[in-house]
Amino acid sequence: MPHSNLDFSTSFWNAEYLLIDSRQLSAPSNTIFFALDGKKRTGQSFIPELYEKGVRKFVVTSSFEKAYQYKEATFIYTDNTLTTLQELTAWHRKQHHELPAIAITGSNAKTIVKEWLYFLLEMDYNVVKSPKSYNSQIGVPLSVWQINEKHDLGIFEAGISQPDEMENLEKIIQPNIGLFTNIGTAHDKDFDSLEQKIDEKAKLFKNCEIVVYCKDHPLIDEKLSALEVPTFSWGEHPDADLKIMKVADYEIMVNYEGETFPMNIPFLDDASFENAMHCVAMLACLEYPFETIHSRINKLKRIPMRLERKEGINNTVLINDFYNNDLGGLQIALSFLSQNQEKYPRTLIFSDLLQGDQDKKALYERVNQLCNEYSIDRFIGVGEQLQSFASVFNIREQHFFSNTTEIRKAIKEGELHFNKELILLKGARQFEFEKIAGLLQKKIHSTQLEINLDAVVHNLMFYRSQLSPQTKIMVMVKALGYGSGKSELANILQYHLVDYLGVAFADEGVELRENGIRTPIMVLTPSPDAFEMMRMHQLEPEIYNIEMLTALEDFIAEENHDEPFAIQINFDTGMHRLGFTSDNYDELEERLLKLGDKIEVKGVFTHLAGADESVHDSYSKEQIEEFKQLTSKLENALGYKVIKHCLNSAGIVRYPEAQMDMVRLGIGLHGVEVNQLKQEDLQPVATLKTVIAQIKEMKTGQTVGYSRKGKVDAPKKIATIGIGYADGFDRRLSNGVGKVVINGQLAPVIGNVCMDMTMVDISDIPANVGDEVIVFGENRSISTIAKEIGTIPYEILTSVSSRVKRIYYMEG
Ligand SMILES: *Cc1c(COP(=O)(O)O)cnc(C)c1O
Repeated sequence: MPHSNLDFSTSFWNAEYLLIDSRQLSAPSNTIFFALDGKKRTGQSFIPELYEKGVRKFVVTSSFEKAYQYKEATFIYTDNTLTTLQELTAWHRKQHHELPAIAITGSNAKTIVKEWLYFLLEMDYNVVKSPKSYNSQIGVPLSVWQINEKHDLGIFEAGISQPDEMENLEKIIQPNIGLFTNIGTAHDKDFDSLEQKIDEKAKLFKNCEIVVYCKDHPLIDEKLSALEVPTFSWGEHPDADLKIMKVADYEIMVNYEGETFPMNIPFLDDASFENAMHCVAMLACLEYPFETIHSRINKLKRIPMRLERKEGINNTVLINDFYNNDLGGLQIALSFLSQNQEKYPRTLIFSDLLQGDQDKKALYERVNQLCNEYSIDRFIGVGEQLQSFASVFNIREQHFFSNTTEIRKAIKEGELHFNKELILLKGARQFEFEKIAGLLQKKIHSTQLEINLDAVVHNLMFYRSQLSPQTKIMVMVKALGYGSGKSELANILQYHLVDYLGVAFADEGVELRENGIRTPIMVLTPSPDAFEMMRMHQLEPEIYNIEMLTALEDFIAEENHDEPFAIQINFDTGMHRLGFTSDNYDELEERLLKLGDKIEVKGVFTHLAGADESVHDSYSKEQIEEFKQLTSKLENALGYKVIKHCLNSAGIVRYPEAQMDMVRLGIGLHGVEVNQLKQEDLQPVATLKTVIAQIKEMKTGQTVGYSRKGKVDAPKKIATIGIGYADGFDRRLSNGVGKVVINGQLAPVIGNVCMDMTMVDISDIPANVGDEVIVFGENRSISTIAKEIGTIPYEILTSVSSRVKRIYYMEG
């Protein structure tokens, strides 16, 4: 950052907003526009429009020659507008040098750790933090500019993409406490080595009083302990300041200054665990007692990283932001709202700000000011504080409620009405705004399959808890991910570090790769024509008989790659579907050895024929025994270790002793425990829903539907629902066999199921046209339906037809 001679104490620099992006303009008279050059347009090209809207302060370079056209504006000329922005904000930070600031850097998780620290500390401090992931050369200055005299703690993130960038960020943030999250191994073209990357990032800490990091990463440890800055480390490493020991899932022991404390970490995946531990260490470093740390850490939730946009009732658009509530976040959300396409009136539903003990009146005056700047048409305050400060608000339409129950009541009773408006719901966790959203969300109009990704993760964690930590998990996403949509599932599985995915065909694997899935993938029934494609996309074919092996040899003979081709071998030990039998073994071994290092046998597996039925216990155990013998022979012959796997979902629960190196999880992930032993531990994933299309009163003697099968023997109320066998509502559910849930009660099918519709008896159920109908989900299990029509849950799940819209959601 070269030093310019600008005097930042002059009145020109006195402004609330530094504007980079003209779309984010909110308060023209209180804004300085910095003309930075983007990839497509120069910043200067926005000046006419901004001047028109009332902006009067501009920072430009000497290439801007038209200043004389803007009589009322002031222009500051500099050599580099970005540098000026950085210098200005560094100067601003210096004016507030007494504010302690935490700065977070590292390859991943800066934003989540920052948001979590904010969540953990907001009740004690008046925190100023980086909005969203504002951690760049521009984002950091904008973050720091928010600091004012009311704040007593700053939490900022800093990210770099090139060497030499961190020094700038350090000068702007001037942090007192540092936190290093982790280092990715991804190859960065702008850095020579991982070492250089760590060194560069560590420049953020050069004036810190202390730096928090995890000691279990040797390279980070080496680099950070060599800094001339005191450190505070955590980890399993014997010399960590805060030493941890994993006791069980979710549970660790923390040893600190000679004392040991138990601690529950509410996450099982490694990434979340690490992030939560950074927070534990930071709080310990801030001298919080361990009981406090424990109780706060337990309340951590996953954070949705972006605002959720949903269709609401009466042509409204809902934007949900339930995680936390602070001024910076409000501004971001308001600016998001103002960039929305719809030119609808804007409504803000807002909860009390549960921030440290600052001047509440001033705080809510500021909220009012922001609402006015972003043209909020209707303000709805929820909470006792807002109610008591109602007089500071002067918004065209405003309502106040003391709590969430009160506003819900007003909505239900029609006192509070919404129509054609953009509704931003922004509340602190405690206010449970999701309950308001529940009332405002648009009801469905057609058949849809809702997939709860939180439940997927929950179920994955359950199966993980049944296995030793080193056992890998392959998730089978064949048959559209058991009906749920494979890319969406694969994405969440990749995020949660599943080790392998299994698909039926090569095309499916390619599609996953094209959707950014990098997890290893096994292809169950590959066609030899697809070997080249599989190699290109790093898909591992299952080789299951001599013909396939011959095709593999032919392929290897013709191609010329240096890397070995990774394959999986299937042994048939009793399923009698695919796989080499023990009779084929010698030939298989000989020919694999001949292929030598042209191939790599990554895995060897078998499939149990009756893992879910105890009557087949001894058969299953014999299968497992035979498999063990075959694999150990093969491993010896090959001279290297392969991943051995034989258990499906049912097997994981019933034969944990046979988990070997990996298991193959299928239907269990979808919340169906086919053994019916651990069903309570799983959550249902998919909910199949439709709506009532019409309601009819029927008289005795009339009939319903095709072939006049539905006989009405007494006056009845019949609802026609929008689902039929073409959607996957099995025709065997006709004539009272099947039932659906309407307003919490079971309604039996009357007459034959039609192609697109079905009639159900709702004589005893209060219901209206448009009401939701649940076919399966939370209160009606897939297993029950399967039993009713004499099939298995797999068929129910996979026969929901592709014309049914899939909706994925996460509660966050
Ligand atoms: C489908 C499949 C699985 C998963 O089975 P679930 O019973 O759904 O857990 C495992 N292995 C193979 C080879 C499969 O085809």
